[in-house]
Amino acid sequence: ERLNNDFQFVEVGRVDPKKVPARKRKKEFKEIYTPITQNQAASQSHRCLECGNPYCEWKCPVHNYIPNWLKLVAEGNIMKAVELCHQTNSLPEVCGRVCPQDRLCEGDCTLNDGYGAVTIGSVEKYITDTAFALGWKPDMSKVVRTDKRVAVIGAGPAGLACADVLVRSGVTPVVFDIYPEIGGLLTFGIPEFKLEKSVMARRRNVFEEMGVEFRLSTEVGKHIQMSDLLSDFDAVFMGMGTYTSMQGDFPGENLAGVHAALPFLISNVNRRLGFEVSTEDFINMQGKRVVVLGGGDTAMDCNRTSIRQQAASVTCAYRRDEANMPGSRREVSNAREEGVNFMFNRQPVAIVGDGQVEGVKVVSTELGEPDENGRRRPEVIPGSEEIIPADAVLVAFGFRPSPAEWFGQHQVSTSDSGLVTAPEQADFAFQTSNPKVFAGGDMVRGSDLVVTAIWEGRQAAEGILDYLDI
Ligand code: FAD
Ligand code: SF4
Repeated sequence: ERLNNDFQFVEVGRVDPKKVPARKRKKEFKEIYTPITQNQAASQSHRCLECGNPYCEWKCPVHNYIPNWLKLVAEGNIMKAVELCHQTNSLPEVCGRVCPQDRLCEGDCTLNDGYGAVTIGSVEKYITDTAFALGWKPDMSKVVRTDKRVAVIGAGPAGLACADVLVRSGVTPVVFDIYPEIGGLLTFGIPEFKLEKSVMARRRNVFEEMGVEFRLSTEVGKHIQMSDLLSDFDAVFMGMGTYTSMQGDFPGENLAGVHAALPFLISNVNRRLGFEVSTEDFINMQGKRVVVLGGGDTAMDCNRTSIRQQAASVTCAYRRDEANMPGSRREVSNAREEGVNFMFNRQPVAIVGDGQVEGVKVVSTELGEPDENGRRRPEVIPGSEEIIPADAVLVAFGFRPSPAEWFGQHQVSTSDSGLVTAPEQADFAFQTSNPKVFAGGDMVRGSDLVVTAIWEGRQAAEGILDYLDI
């Protein structure tokens, strides 16, 4: 009866998955959304209008077959749904958790006009988690193995997605990473309250069973050379990310107690996963007045990690207003619920202190004319200086490219800003200036999103398959 009701979206509103109450979740490093039930998944999926030209699908960077798998979930056919999910996405359980859906698929759902978008992200997560729990594994029985081997540098979403497409096409990917675990920023960046580490551990098993080989704790350029990869493999894919932290270029950034965002987040992961080399590496916010500078996903993760480390207070200063924050709105509201104090329209001009940080000097801003990207430029209000007291400051201004010094030796060209040149529209998608080397993800497009890195890794794999004539 439910399936015959085409007006389900009127009778059944959008229901978001339940969250663990803020007072409880701010004490633990666990995912905050509780799993949805089969009935919830089915009734929410059935709200989909099955638009003839689904905007959600176009807006999704990997172009998931969203209305098709929503229909399968509404019908209770999880095994078919999970197969369909994997036709376009290598890590659907991750995207369901961390994509900024409000800006992507759900932002373009037709039901946004007054009814509330279909909860696409949580259904995607539900499909994959449920299928895995039921014992689903990718079916590799029809794959014809070739003798081709491709080296993949980086086990982040770009590298993993590339390896996924290659192995399903009979090519053996060997994935190298500096870190002792796979995932790149999914493991050593994004905290557990958004993505629990067990999710990537489960995926690692799946990839290994599929035939992906991992060589972890191995840095290319140090433990193994690019020249060896070029001679031992049929092609190389680079998905090495962007790791140069942007600075504010104002006085006081070198004071004790001022930290870049990523070392702080990584030190927390290392402690929790038991990878800490020395206890001195742990950056601890317990009992401190923390000021976080920035307004993106990284800033939100610093805010919420500090809260969980029992900081005395956490203040996030951002130079534009709330509507112009680059990060996911969902994460801003989660941070606020957990006790983060936001100061909008505040631009830092100095970090003050005598050897040790004592505060952040900010000026108030108002939004002026749009810049070249269409975002309104913050303009300083004269005479508005104030100091926010701080015992620790986390700088989360984003990342610039970090090209390896060996790129030049191997004819891998970069743009002036250091991004690797690997055009999607080249004869072989994502081929670099060295025909045997392909690249994708943050190191090509600049720091962006998990799902865009997955898209580029998958497309680059198609480019490699064409290049290898498979
Ligand atoms: P990475 O994930 O950075 O992976 C690159 C890998 O390459 C790393 O594991 C690195 O160790 C390895 N590597 C580099 N050089 C070498 C070498 N020489 N030899 C061997 N291995 C090497 N995106 C979202 O969509 N949603 C979010 O909520 C979100 N939150 C974020 C939170 C934080 C704190 C940060 C920093 C980013 C966040 N992002 C988020 C962005 C997202 O994580 C990245 O865009 C994405 O991980 C990029 O994927 P990638 O594969 O290109 O690079
Ligand atoms: Fe939405 Fe991201 Fe899933 Fe695409 S991959 S459907 S954008 S949650």
